[in-house]
Amino acid sequence: MTQVFNFSAGPAVLPSEVLRQVQAELLDWHGSGMSVMEMSHRGIEFGQILSEAEADLRALMAIPDNYKVLFLQGGAMLQFSMLPLNFAQTDSTIDFVHTGHWSKGAIAEAKRYAKVNIVASSEDKNFSYVPEESTWQRTPDAAYLHYCSNETIGGVEFNHIPQSDGVPLICDMSSNILSRPIDVSQFAVIYAGAQKNIGPSGVALSIVREDMLGKARSDIPTLMNYKTFADNGSMYNTPPTFGIYVAGLVFKWLLKNGGLAVMEQKNIAKANVLYSAIDASNGFYHCPVALANRSRMNIPFTLADSNLDKEFLAGAEARHLLQLKGHRSVGGMRASIYNAMPLEGCQALAAYMNEFAKTKG
Ligand code: PMP
Repeated sequence: MTQVFNFSAGPAVLPSEVLRQVQAELLDWHGSGMSVMEMSHRGIEFGQILSEAEADLRALMAIPDNYKVLFLQGGAMLQFSMLPLNFAQTDSTIDFVHTGHWSKGAIAEAKRYAKVNIVASSEDKNFSYVPEESTWQRTPDAAYLHYCSNETIGGVEFNHIPQSDGVPLICDMSSNILSRPIDVSQFAVIYAGAQKNIGPSGVALSIVREDMLGKARSDIPTLMNYKTFADNGSMYNTPPTFGIYVAGLVFKWLLKNGGLAVMEQKNIAKANVLYSAIDASNGFYHCPVALANRSRMNIPFTLADSNLDKEFLAGAEARHLLQLKGHRSVGGMRASIYNAMPLEGCQALAAYMNEFAKTKG
């Protein structure tokens, strides 16, 4: 098999060890004679898979006991709708920090169900930074304060947890969850789609503080109420069993490799390799993001001469450096380097970038 480095923003690279284990267990999980895909979600075997996945995630993130861990479907985007329907009334105000594409999606959906206040926006500089917290115009009695800790398309990452002064803090962590330790107790809700740092697409995760549950509007669909999942151990209906199984293996891989503090150090080192290549290129490559908010997970960059984009991508592909094309809304390149991307992948890309700049610059 050709060794490739896959820089996709998601669905994204998974640890090869995990994929090999999935392959080894595909037809016969732990001597059961069944594939995980074939098991009843109510059986003992899947029950064990689900409870281990939850326990391992709790250990990894040090999730306090007063939080529920929910495995959902519908992606992170369904939660853009679930959040206002569960935690706000039509006349309450939801505060949002607007830092780019995914903030915008969450804002648009919330506006359908409640009042929205944008506490700060970085639109003035094309969403290339996180607005200074001291400038935020917050609503004292907001239903909640929402932000996206890592804008996957813009490559803008928060490097601190905002203070919300008692207002429930809700965070879309889809693209940087598990990339570093975080203090879960600061949040009312943390949510994420799985297909970056957790596992395959089809699973979404929500970590919900218990006191948030039970406040949902009465007319919402049962399957959009977080309490339905909390009261039924994520098994009110059939959960995405295979995706949860793979996510559970990823959690075990993270624990075996030292947990999130070790992951953070690796991620810093990986990101440095690529940002150094950009910064040392004398303007051949450019990253539009403010230094303090450069993402460790998604590194967008442009070539000074965009006529070279195609050639750059073709050369990268020839070296097995895949899926580097930037999002269609911004163009240029984007290297997504989630937990499962090894340092060697970043080094190989940096070496190619240097070589390409030398020959074309
Ligand atoms: N939020 C962020 C930060 C994302 O990166 C994405 C997907 N790329 C989403 C939300 C939407 O997730 P999904 O496709 O799982 O609904």
